[in-house]
Amino acid sequence: MASGGGNNRNGTHRNSLKGTTTTSTASTDKPLSVNSNPSKPAFKNKSSPLTGASSGLRKSSPGSLGGGAAKDDAGERVYLKAVTFRWQNLKRPMVPGRVRVAVRLRPRNAEESVADADFADCVELQPELKRLKLRKNNWDTDTYEFDEVLTEFASQKRVYEVAAKPVVEGVLDGYNGTIMAYGQTGTGKTYTLGRLGEEDTANRGIMVRAMEDILAEVSPEIDSVLVSYLQLYMESLQDLLDPTNDNISIVEEPKSGDVSLPGATLVEIRDQQSFLELLRLGEAHRHAANTKLNTESSRSHALLMVHVKRTVKGREPAHSSDNGNSTSMARSLRPPLVRKGKLVVVDLAGSERIDKSGSDGHTREEAKSINLSLSALGKCINALAENSAHVPVRDSKLTRLLRDSFGGTARTSLVITVGPSPRHRGETASTIMFGQRAMKVENMLKLKEEFDYKSLARRLDIQLDKLIMEHERKQKAFEVEIERITAEAQNRISEAERNYADAVEKERLKYQKDYMESIKKLEEKWMMNQQNQGNERKEQMVHIAEEVAEVKKLLSKETSLRKAAEEEVDNLKSRLAQLKMSEASANSEILKLRKMVEDEVCQKEKLEGEISMLQSQLLHISFEADETRKRLDRGGPGKVPGGLDSPVSQVRSQLKDSGNREKASVAKLFEQVGLQKILSLLEAEDADVRIHAVKVVANLAAEETNQQKIVEAGGLKSLLMLLGSSEDETIHRVAAGAIANLAMNEKNQELIMSQGGINLLSTTASHAKDPQTLRMVAGAIANLCGNDKLQTKLRGEGGIKALLEIVKCGHPDVLAQVARGIANFAKCESRASTQGSKTGRSLLIEDGALPWIVQNANSDASPIRRHIELALCHLAQHEVNAKDMISEGALWELVRISQDCPREDIRTLAHRTLASSPDFIAGLKQLRIDY
Ligand code: ADP
Ligand code: MG
Repeated sequence: MASGGGNNRNGTHRNSLKGTTTTSTASTDKPLSVNSNPSKPAFKNKSSPLTGASSGLRKSSPGSLGGGAAKDDAGERVYLKAVTFRWQNLKRPMVPGRVRVAVRLRPRNAEESVADADFADCVELQPELKRLKLRKNNWDTDTYEFDEVLTEFASQKRVYEVAAKPVVEGVLDGYNGTIMAYGQTGTGKTYTLGRLGEEDTANRGIMVRAMEDILAEVSPEIDSVLVSYLQLYMESLQDLLDPTNDNISIVEEPKSGDVSLPGATLVEIRDQQSFLELLRLGEAHRHAANTKLNTESSRSHALLMVHVKRTVKGREPAHSSDNGNSTSMARSLRPPLVRKGKLVVVDLAGSERIDKSGSDGHTREEAKSINLSLSALGKCINALAENSAHVPVRDSKLTRLLRDSFGGTARTSLVITVGPSPRHRGETASTIMFGQRAMKVENMLKLKEEFDYKSLARRLDIQLDKLIMEHERKQKAFEVEIERITAEAQNRISEAERNYADAVEKERLKYQKDYMESIKKLEEKWMMNQQNQGNERKEQMVHIAEEVAEVKKLLSKETSLRKAAEEEVDNLKSRLAQLKMSEASANSEILKLRKMVEDEVCQKEKLEGEISMLQSQLLHISFEADETRKRLDRGGPGKVPGGLDSPVSQVRSQLKDSGNREKASVAKLFEQVGLQKILSLLEAEDADVRIHAVKVVANLAAEETNQQKIVEAGGLKSLLMLLGSSEDETIHRVAAGAIANLAMNEKNQELIMSQGGINLLSTTASHAKDPQTLRMVAGAIANLCGNDKLQTKLRGEGGIKALLEIVKCGHPDVLAQVARGIANFAKCESRASTQGSKTGRSLLIEDGALPWIVQNANSDASPIRRHIELALCHLAQHEVNAKDMISEGALWELVRISQDCPREDIRTLAHRTLASSPDFIAGLKQLRIDY
């Protein structure tokens, strides 16, 4: 026993089991992996929260090792922790999980039943406690706990379900998975893994059952299952599917740590039968190779590798517990996912010491080499179990091969097989210790998902460029504005300062002058006083007193002047202060503008998000709409009851036929997004977006309830503008269809006409290559033709000429629309003539429509014929048209209509018209038609 009985006692073991679980959660921020370099993080810090959340995909299964709800809970807990701690640091989501170890006891075989008849088995199992007791002697046992304890009665099905199924499910979900069997030769490794179960399907082993589960899950058209089957013997790797290939090299991807065998044969598996054949073939080759090498299969390791590649379709790459619009928007932006998982099933060489069995003539060197891989595996497991910084994976081929599986980034399950015989107690004990150590090894599961980021990145780049440009433009305008305000404020300040200085200087000069003058006057007077001193002294005294009074007056005047000057100075000062204040307010305005620019940037970011959402929703909906249209097209052109085969009724019936799905989603979009936003996308720069937007608007316009809203929101104007501005025929077609729908309404007809509709529609028609475009344009004009008030204007703008141009295309659907237009026009004209508001020949005849009318009056296509018959009857009502009609051959057609037309009202109308018109009666006589 390797590590002292005392430590392996019952209680201690429960602790050690607990300890393992604790380690697995507590050490989540220090992933343990074979290739991890503790000083360097394994992945660059580049992840997004989206990918981080994807790790929630991990499915817990009822049959997993450790069993039941408790395990599921534990799994969930581990997952949550992993997300909290890791998503910032990891490129791929990883979930820690311990290597799951099951022990399986082989029943006594015939020899043991006889030879050991008097001895108790060396092991005793307590499956309900998941414990194994290893007998030391008659009075002492050691107890060990495992994830699963499988007695000699355990069925192959149960073994598969507890030891392998969770790993296989992981592989289907995009994780790597490894299932290994370890144990002494003859204890049932091959029985557990490799039984084909041909004689009894209940005996099928893990390999066969795993493939059954995989094949049941994958879709053959989009997924692939590729298998290699190899043998590792004396450190050389042989291809069991191609025996000539006996030195396959192992290639390790330095970045991801993934291991691959480019030299190994890969066979695509499509059904279970071919897989069984492959296993049989591999087994035969293994047998032949071992005979050649003079060894037994128990000395070599057999490795089955299954590469599963699945496309995740219509499913979320991450758990979909989150809700909210932004998340669903972000989700719909994601490209499709491909999940790759690799399942490795390893039937290890017998764990017994070769030097002990020693009988086969190998040298010690050879013996070492034979078991090198197995002992290296043991060392790696020890290193991993002890959390050692160095794991010697490079020591052997087996450990290099399992580098990305065992103790690495995969779910791993180990079945250790033991026999009951007390004679092999030593081997059994060492097998159990191997299993115990393996239970401490922690794996980091890595989900291998790949996004098609390129297209997404391109789209986002374009949007980002646009936003940056817009931002720069605003920034520039803002800077110019600031400069202007600053310069203006500066000017005003310097002007005020100048004014102030001027005024002060002026005042100073004035005072100086006044002062000098006063002094001068006083001096003069004083001189005079001196001269006239004697006799006039008294008088002078009086005079001086007067002078003094005057000087005093002057002085007071000066004082008041000075006061006024001071006031002026104060005034100027306050103006200066005011100017300073206005400068401050300019500054605050600058701050406000800066804030507005920031808000603008924020708003733009929000809009960007909305645009992305709208684009994806539009893509989705237009895709559905296209699908529906395709479906309908395949079903052939349906006849619409009521006889009016206008595009409107066709679109309407398409919408009806397409079921509730499309309708519901368009309506939902309408509600969620708002018409204004949808219409704004008609002017989007991205051509794809424009196409989708116009399709959505067309779908909405097909519903009468939406038409008013679309026109009010300016949709009609936008659609007409699109006809002029776009060069894309799809846009022309869809926009014309939408306009045709809106042109059902009299008010809209006036709007279309007033916005140059006829001109736009006929230009569209002249560029159209697709008859469906022409059909839509003709349908729109046909609707306009039915408006009594617009007759003259429509003809003046070339509406009739446009219809006559369109007929050149010859397509019956298009001709039917033109015929409908002409019938509408003729009907309105006839009404106007009857009311007296119109005189003279029909504008249809004026514009040269009669030859075409006559030519198509007996068309094979009933919609065309019906409209034209009606048109002819309307034209014939008025005598002014009779001469032209006779000379163009319309008389024949009228006669035919009066006799053959299936509609009785038209027949009667034609008959009455012919009988009441003198010109027609004369014409009939001339043609010698008895009528
Ligand atoms: P090893 O894994 O060492 O190659 P094997 O799978 O070849 O062992 O098993 C040795 C023998 O024991 C085989 O004859 C096998 O059929 C039989 N055996 C092994 N495990 C069981 C079991 N669980 N039930 C019945 N027979 C078994
Ligand atoms: Mg075997």
